[in-house]
Amino acid sequence: MENGKIYLSPEYEVVRSDEKCIRCRVCERQCADDVHYYDADADRMCALDENCVNCHRCVSVCPTHALKIKVSENRFRENDNWSDTKVREVYLQANSGGVMLGAMGTPLKYPTYWDKILINASQVTNPSIDPLREPMETRTFLGKKNQKTVRDADGRLVTKFTSPQIELDAPIMFSAMSYGSISYNAHASLARAATELGICYNTGEGGLHEDFYPYGANTIVQVASGRFGVHADYLMAGAGIEIKMGQGAKPGIGGHLPGRKVGPDVSRTRMIPEGSDAISPAPHHDIYSIEDLRQLVYSLKEATAYRKPVIVKISAVHNVAAIASGIARSGADIIAIDGFKGGTGAAPSRIRDNVGIPIELALGAVDSRLREEGIRDEVSVVVGGSIHSSTDVVKAIALGADAVYIGTAALLALGCHLCRSCHKNNCNWGIATQNPTLVKRLNPDYGARRLVNLVSAWKHEIMEVMGGMGINSIEALRGNRLMLRGVDLNEKELEILGIKYAGESI
Ligand code: SF4
Ligand code: SF4
Repeated sequence: MENGKIYLSPEYEVVRSDEKCIRCRVCERQCADDVHYYDADADRMCALDENCVNCHRCVSVCPTHALKIKVSENRFRENDNWSDTKVREVYLQANSGGVMLGAMGTPLKYPTYWDKILINASQVTNPSIDPLREPMETRTFLGKKNQKTVRDADGRLVTKFTSPQIELDAPIMFSAMSYGSISYNAHASLARAATELGICYNTGEGGLHEDFYPYGANTIVQVASGRFGVHADYLMAGAGIEIKMGQGAKPGIGGHLPGRKVGPDVSRTRMIPEGSDAISPAPHHDIYSIEDLRQLVYSLKEATAYRKPVIVKISAVHNVAAIASGIARSGADIIAIDGFKGGTGAAPSRIRDNVGIPIELALGAVDSRLREEGIRDEVSVVVGGSIHSSTDVVKAIALGADAVYIGTAALLALGCHLCRSCHKNNCNWGIATQNPTLVKRLNPDYGARRLVNLVSAWKHEIMEVMGGMGINSIEALRGNRLMLRGVDLNEKELEILGIKYAGESI
């Protein structure tokens, strides 16, 4: 104990092979957390383990592969009731008196329902489709759909959408990540990749930097409770407008961008003073009912001459189906639901780890409710918060989604190593930082390329899986729950998901 504080041993150990180390000091220069230093007297490199966040930057750049980062074996005496982590957290709060903050999604072990759902494939009587040789439609349109389709004399569809739509070449969008929480180069990567892929990225609640207006056709502009960076040109710039009511990683609370991340560019874009904390309140102070929400939805439609679809984004919470029903009746065109495993730049970790419900169950409940009420075509449904792969996308669409948002997967494609310290402004990979030296570490050309690669690979896999199911369009897959079967799920879970158990026939 020092100064009345309980000593917490470092979580990670830097292991360096003195045999391999050539004292080039690259690790020292590359680490923004000041872990490595050179001891001239001993002519050797040393490490301050307590500063290490396990971001693996040094491991990646070391030219001789001299470094390993190990999870420390130094654990408090634990038992089945009090784990090392739980003990550590109590000590931490007793030392600081503060709320614990964390980044990214919950690390706790909750069920991942995607992994308990299996996909059907065609055999014998219903032929599969070869996506390389036969047409396969991955395009999807988000927005309110017409009640009727009209065909011409030759049977061709001639229906025109009467409500504005967002057209996506693949049913995938990049989740909301604000300029401020992530860097200029990360935003540039997302904007360029979305444009090349024919999908959308999302400004988050930080406004739109003037350099990114040319990417407007592939941008969702967000309006959150803080209204940062919201003005008439901003609203007109995007393909759609998203009202953020909630976020999966922190349902029920607002956002917080620390002042150290609010440099001149971020301050101008957000329209707030430089260096000030950007705190968005938990509620929108003008929304206390569905009627109030409707007013904002229609204000935004009025402001954009009814040319932009309006998305309402909520976190997946206990009564999500009823809330979604209200949103569908508010005039919104699209509902985005963020599951409680969703990532974030900073959230109180108790809320992140304990509040909300899994996106799979929320999606099953919402799609069923909207169908039962006969209003499913009034809105599109987009889900996010733990989409890890192309098959998660297929399962989400078969459960009833029109498209998905991906956040953490997109950051991983940019080089994120999940060190969970985004709130510190020290991201060694140039993503969640405003430090100009660190930002340069992410080359937006390479960032955009990796994002394009990821989504193109997923799109290809989606086509392969759909082909195997004998389905040739996202439209035919949407809500096709007969194509799914559950394993290791109880009756209640199956009921909410609206699927049968593996082995059960139609
Ligand atoms: S980067 Fe590798 S070789 Fe260079 S000083 Fe660090 S550990 Fe040694
Ligand atoms: S974005 Fe950067 S700081 Fe955040 S988890 Fe990834 S590597 Fe760590």
